[in-house]
Amino acid sequence: MSQTRKTLAVPMLPLWINGCSTPSSSDRSTDVFNPATGEVIRKTPLANQADIDRAVAAAKAAFPAWRDTPPLRRARILTRYRELMEAHQTELVRLISEEHGKTLLDAAGSLQRGIEVIEFASGAPHLLKGEHAEDVGRGVDCHSLLQPLGVCVGIAPFNFPAMVPLWMFPVAIACGNSFILKPSERVPSTALRMAELFSEAGLPDGVFNVVSGDKEAVDALLSHPDVAAISSVGSTPVAQYIYETAARHGKRVQALGGAKNHAVVMPDADLPFTADALIAAGYGSAGERCMAISAVVAVGDAGDTLIALLKERVAKLKVGSGNQDGIDMGPLITRAHRDKVKGYIDAGAAEGAQLVLDGRGLVVAGHEQGFFLGPTLFDRVTTDMTIYKDEIFGPVLIVLRVASLDEAIALINRSPYANGTAIFTRSGAAARRFEHDIEVGMVGVNIPIPVPMAFFSFGGWKASLFGDLHMHGMEGVQFYTRTKVVTTRWPLTDERRAPTLAMPTHG
Ligand code: NAD
Repeated sequence: MSQTRKTLAVPMLPLWINGCSTPSSSDRSTDVFNPATGEVIRKTPLANQADIDRAVAAAKAAFPAWRDTPPLRRARILTRYRELMEAHQTELVRLISEEHGKTLLDAAGSLQRGIEVIEFASGAPHLLKGEHAEDVGRGVDCHSLLQPLGVCVGIAPFNFPAMVPLWMFPVAIACGNSFILKPSERVPSTALRMAELFSEAGLPDGVFNVVSGDKEAVDALLSHPDVAAISSVGSTPVAQYIYETAARHGKRVQALGGAKNHAVVMPDADLPFTADALIAAGYGSAGERCMAISAVVAVGDAGDTLIALLKERVAKLKVGSGNQDGIDMGPLITRAHRDKVKGYIDAGAAEGAQLVLDGRGLVVAGHEQGFFLGPTLFDRVTTDMTIYKDEIFGPVLIVLRVASLDEAIALINRSPYANGTAIFTRSGAAARRFEHDIEVGMVGVNIPIPVPMAFFSFGGWKASLFGDLHMHGMEGVQFYTRTKVVTTRWPLTDERRAPTLAMPTHG
C-alpha cells in the first residue's frame, strides 16, 4: 500500500540558492503539468519573502568576489558552461518539451538560440572594454569603465523555458553581476537544471540562483533593497506593473511585454513561399511565441490565393504530443489557456469573421486529457474585432484585407503592440519603405520571425517593451553595467598655474 502511494507521489521541486538545491520554506506550491497528457508531473514551490531574502543574501554575498574576478576568467567559465549545455542538449530539450508541450525540434531550436547568448557573453573581455581618449585637454586624458550593478533579477514567461532566461543571465553574469532567476511556475525544471550545469562549469556559489514563484515572489524581488536591476518578459499588463513597481523602488528595469505581430503580404510576393513561412510562424509552438505571426495583412489581390494556399497547408499539419516523431504542433500550456483561446474562436465567429478552419473539435487519440487545440484560420477580420485587438497566444491565424502598402503600414502603426513584423514582397522599394516607416522594434523582410541573433539586441517598441534598453547584444551589456568616466591629469611642476574659479575647459 505504502509502495503504491510512493509510486504515485508527485515530487516537489527545490529552489537553487548559493550553489545547491534547497527546499522552500513556503507553504504554497503549484502543480506542473505535462500539457500533452494533462497529468501533474511535479509540484513547484511558490517562494515566499523568506526564500527571496535567502536568495538575495546569497547573491549579495557572492557579488564582491565575482565583480573582482577578471572578465577573462568569467569568460572561461561561460565557455565551459556553453560546452556543458551543448553536451546536455538532448536532456534539456526533453525537459522543455515535457513541461511546455512544444515539439522536440522546436525546443532544440530555441535552446540553440539561448546557447548562442552564452557564446556572445563569453566575449566579456572585449565587450567590457571602455573608451579611452588621449589629450581631451592639454595634458588631460579620459577613459570610461563599465562596472557591474550588483544583484540582478530575471522574471521569465512560460513559453521559452530556456531561451528567454538565457537572454538575460549569461550577459548579466559575464558583466560581473550576480543573478536571481524567477522562472515561470509552469515550467520550472529547465531553469534548475541550467543552474546545476552552471555550477558544474565552475561558477562560484551564489552567483546564480533560481527561485520558483508567482506574484508574491515577484513583489518581494521588486521591492527588495538589495536588488539593483530587474529584467522581465511576460504579458503587457504584467510588464507594465513590473516596470512601474521596480522603477518606484529605484531599480534599473527592462520589462518586455506581449505582442500582436503582423505580416504584410504584397501581391508581388512569392505566395507559396510566403504561405509556408506564415504556417511556421503562425502555428509553430502552437502560436505561443512572442514573435509568432498572428495577423496577416494581405494587400490587394494577394488575399484569395494566400487563403487557398494556407488552407491546403494547415490541413496537413499533424497535432500531437511534442515528443513524438512527425508532429508539427503540440498542446497549449494549460487547460485554462486552451479554453481561453477556444473562447476567442467563439468570439471571432460571433463577431462576423470568416472561419476558414476551425480547430475547436480536435481530439488527439490517446491524449484525450491533453490541452490540445487544432490550427484555426480566420479570413476577413477587421480591426474592431476581439480576435484582432487581443493577443490570443494560441494557434489562431487571422487575415485582414487592405488595398495598399500605405494602408497596411498605417494599420500596423495604430496597434499598441510593436514587437515584430514582416513584409513579404519581391520589391526592394516596398521593403525599404516598410523598413523605414514601420513603428516596430524587429522587422523581417521575407523572414517571418525576425528574432535577432545574440550579437544584436532583442526588443519591441510601445506596449511590447517598457524601459529603454533591449536584451542581449550590446544593449544587454549596457543594461547590466554602469559607466564611470575618469578624467586624469599628471601635471609637471612647471605646468602648475594660478588657481582659477572659472569652469575648466581643458582647451
Ligand atoms: P505572464 O505575464 O503571465 O507571466 C510572466 C512572468 O510574470 C511569470 O514569471 C509570472 O510568474 C509572473 N507574473 C504573472 N502574473 C504576475 C503578477 N500579477 N505580478 C507579478 N508577476 C506576475 O506571461 P506568461 O503567460 O508566462 O507568458 C506569455 C506572455 O509573455 C505573452 O504575453 C507573450 O507575448 C509574452 N512574451 C513576450 C516576449 C517578448 O519578447 N516581448 C517573449 C516571450 C513571451
